[in-house]
Amino acid sequence: MQPILSLQDISYAYHNLKGETPALSDISFDVSQGEFLAIVGPSGCGKSTLLSIIAGLLSPEEGTVYYRGKCVADCGLNDTVKIGYMLQRDHLFEWRTIYQNVILGLELNHTLTPENRDYVLKLLRDYDLYAFKDKKPSELSGGMRQRAALIRTMAIHPDLLLLDEPFSALDSQTRLNVSADIAQIIRQTNKTAILITHDLSEAVTLADRVLVLSRRPACIKCEMPICFDIDRHDPMAIRNTAEYQLYFNHLWEVLTNEQSSLRST
Ligand code: ADP
Ligand code: MG
Repeated sequence: MQPILSLQDISYAYHNLKGETPALSDISFDVSQGEFLAIVGPSGCGKSTLLSIIAGLLSPEEGTVYYRGKCVADCGLNDTVKIGYMLQRDHLFEWRTIYQNVILGLELNHTLTPENRDYVLKLLRDYDLYAFKDKKPSELSGGMRQRAALIRTMAIHPDLLLLDEPFSALDSQTRLNVSADIAQIIRQTNKTAILITHDLSEAVTLADRVLVLSRRPACIKCEMPICFDIDRHDPMAIRNTAEYQLYFNHLWEVLTNEQSSLRST
């Protein structure tokens, strides 16, 4: 089947008065419909830059991004796939209620139809936030806020979810539960997702495949398909399997080599 997203030979550098900062070097990979891909790499290596290129916020200096086989530069992003972007901070507006926050994307797209209002209410019920829909964000816990941010993202019916370290503001126990819940929601709805994370355990527990990026300018160091025999929903059960240890150790080795080469330069 045709991949939903295909990157071919993508390179990018930032230019400013101080000179050039190469961020991405010759990156190519495909993402299949319904796949959950995690991308890990050293801090500052170019992960967010890569997501910005995929989201169409930056244009690659070299290479091409294809959505469902069509080149974005030729046909425009919105004609091919709808992208939902979720960031590290939830960016909820404090003066709006949770309901008013989660319909924001629909308001901006002029698609706040009765069906979409019903869909948002269903998501609020499904994600256990219905009782909080008239509260302000400051009245919610970090995990609840992050679920609200996910509803806002899902409300626009995205074909592709881009998640840039969305759990890093959460404490470790909440992070484990919220990330497992969110991954379960993404799988159940057969969404395609790309998750950027610093956390190798999170990448192995949640993703179908992990890409490891090198230090800046990022290129792909290693690519690892992940498969478990047991249900993915219980993060602790996954972490107790022998396969988890093997995946984790291998990725740890690749990243540690990358970081030690960073220290020696
Ligand atoms: P990561 O998300 O992996 O931490 P980024 O993609 O944010 O890394 O950044 C990659 C590199 O590009 C970093 O060294 C960063 O300092 C640099 N960079 C990011 N944004 C800009 C910008 N707007 N102008 C100049 N350099 C930038
Ligand atoms: Mg980043």
